[in-house]
Amino acid sequence: MGPLFRAQMVDGTEGEIQGEMQLTEKGLRLITKRGYRGLSAEFDIDGYTCSVCNQDYEECSHENVALIPKGLTGRAVGLVPNPAAGTYVADVLVIRTKRKRRHYRWIGYASGAGTRSRRIQDKLESGHLSSVAATVISKYFLARKSGECRYSERIQ
Ligand SMILES: [Zn+2]
Repeated sequence: MGPLFRAQMVDGTEGEIQGEMQLTEKGLRLITKRGYRGLSAEFDIDGYTCSVCNQDYEECSHENVALIPKGLTGRAVGLVPNPAAGTYVADVLVIRTKRKRRHYRWIGYASGAGTRSRRIQDKLESGHLSSVAATVISKYFLARKSGECRYSERIQ
């Protein structure tokens, strides 16, 4: 099995979307060597609601209003080099298991310290990180807002 890629997309205003995918070697190289740390999400949208009258925008007569998407369904997530406004930024956890050792590599972008702590806690609770690895990674990111932390441990 190849490395696993687990990302959380956080845009700071609209909350958080979690994603998880199998990462190819090429995808891993884009992240680690070429600095692709942004995620661009694709959604299917059923339509828009008008922010003034709350009707279907196709059927109301307002113009120049905010459109509220409805029926949002996530379709795909792509890696991008430079996350722009409205694009999500990824914290990436890569897990490899080789010769009875598990290697964790956490690549993190600058974000609120509380947000990152919560993401690390989530990974611990969902069984993706061991408690020792979670502690090491948390300490690293307490001191640095963004960067990369590696940790390896023996497994049974
Ligand atoms: Zn309207």
